[in-house]
Amino acid sequence: MLREESQIVIAGGGVIGLCAALRLRSEGRDVLLIDRNEPGSGTSSGNAGVLATYECVPLGTPSVLKSLPRLLFDPNSPLSISLSALPKLTPWLARFARASFESRARRSAITLAKLLSNSLQAYEPLLARADARSLLRPNGAMHAFRNSADLDAASWERQLRHELGMRQVLLDRRDMESLEPGFPGEYNRGILFPDAVHLTDPFDLMRRLARAFSEQGGKILSGDITKVQHTKHGVRLIGNEIEVRAGTAIIALGAWSAEFARQLGDRIPLETERGYHVEFPTESPVLSRSVCPVEYGFYLTPMAGRLRAAGTVELSSLRRPPNARRLQLIENATRRLFPNLGPAQSRWIGFRPSLPDSLPVIGRSPRAHNVIYAFGHGHLGVTLGGETARIVTKLIVGEREATELHALSPARFS
Ligand SMILES: Cc1cc2nc3c(=O)[nH]c(=O)nc-3n(C[C@H](O)[C@H](O)[C@H](O)COP(=O)(O)OP(=O)(O)OC[C@H]3O[C@@H](n4cnc5c(N)ncnc54)[C@H](O)[C@@H]3O)c2cc1C
Repeated sequence: MLREESQIVIAGGGVIGLCAALRLRSEGRDVLLIDRNEPGSGTSSGNAGVLATYECVPLGTPSVLKSLPRLLFDPNSPLSISLSALPKLTPWLARFARASFESRARRSAITLAKLLSNSLQAYEPLLARADARSLLRPNGAMHAFRNSADLDAASWERQLRHELGMRQVLLDRRDMESLEPGFPGEYNRGILFPDAVHLTDPFDLMRRLARAFSEQGGKILSGDITKVQHTKHGVRLIGNEIEVRAGTAIIALGAWSAEFARQLGDRIPLETERGYHVEFPTESPVLSRSVCPVEYGFYLTPMAGRLRAAGTVELSSLRRPPNARRLQLIENATRRLFPNLGPAQSRWIGFRPSLPDSLPVIGRSPRAHNVIYAFGHGHLGVTLGGETARIVTKLIVGEREATELHALSPARFS
């Protein structure tokens, strides 16, 4: 049994754990990070790689609510549900439905907009320390629609972004052609989000964050955590071959976090929205920015030496094997758009950690004051890594940001 002590222990080395680790280490804190796999190699590696600074609209909206039954039970739709997981998912779906009412969706959007407005600035110091600025492409992102009727169907979302100060530019066919000449002509309307940035390789960013953390004296431990205990003087994390005592623990275990909150007495309705990617090697980029054909629910992001088609939502469980049909849907749709692509080089599943109101949980455990939760970032974990690290650091150094923290509080579900 390996025994370690540290001022701060971070459970989970996805983008959230890594950003928090690097930021706290930069503030001179003694930080130990534990992961059972290579840090950053899970959900944080295979995503669409978009710093989606514009996406303040939660997943649950009045229009999604209206089409939910059709969407969920059509296996070809971008949002699907595994029927065998339905009984377990019902309480989450009930909360999701309530969170989709207009007033609640708007409330989530206001909080997301606040987090997003600071997201790039909060990343800056981490990117500089990790020598990772070169992985960013500040070319914006584009949503593509077949026609004006499809564009109009998303007008509530567009209006909400507008009210909350997100920059978006409406595009006609000619604009789209000049921005993305390689994108098929059957899409006649679009929205450009000029402030979005995409990554040429999310896993490379994760590796650089981990390396910078180690180089600055942070410690990374490999271990599978099974228990968290609140003690008189702090926290104890226990795994198969490890035991770590710390003054403060940060639970950043992504979609696996709820079980550890439950051990501390906090019930948080975290489920996973599974998503997939398929990659195709490209000799030269076929796009210059990330483009989402909205009807398919995935992004096409030009990455180093490849095109990554990543997204869609499958409500299911952490344990079920990947659904080959979902991967095939993404592959077929991408080939329809780009018929000259060669064989796919990678097929991947990832587990978005998702709360029904599309807001993460960032805050102290109501029952275990030395434990800070930082999980549930859903579709925006990569985007909000830097901002989450900033908030967590403030919590630890004792500063408060009342309004932000109230909306993100783990107590909001009780
Ligand atoms: C298809 C897809 C596309 C996406 N596109 C985007 C995008 O374009 N932009 C964006 O911002 N977000 C995107 N996301 C969402 C984003 O990837 C996630 O929100 C983010 O990666 C979550 O990070 P995390 O650190 O919370 O969790 P994770 O990356 O899952 O990290 C959790 C870590 O905890 C470790 N762990 C779990 N249990 C244990 C245990 N018991 N003991 C030890 N270690 C453990 C895991 O090994 C893992 O490394 C996408 C997600 C998917 C699936």
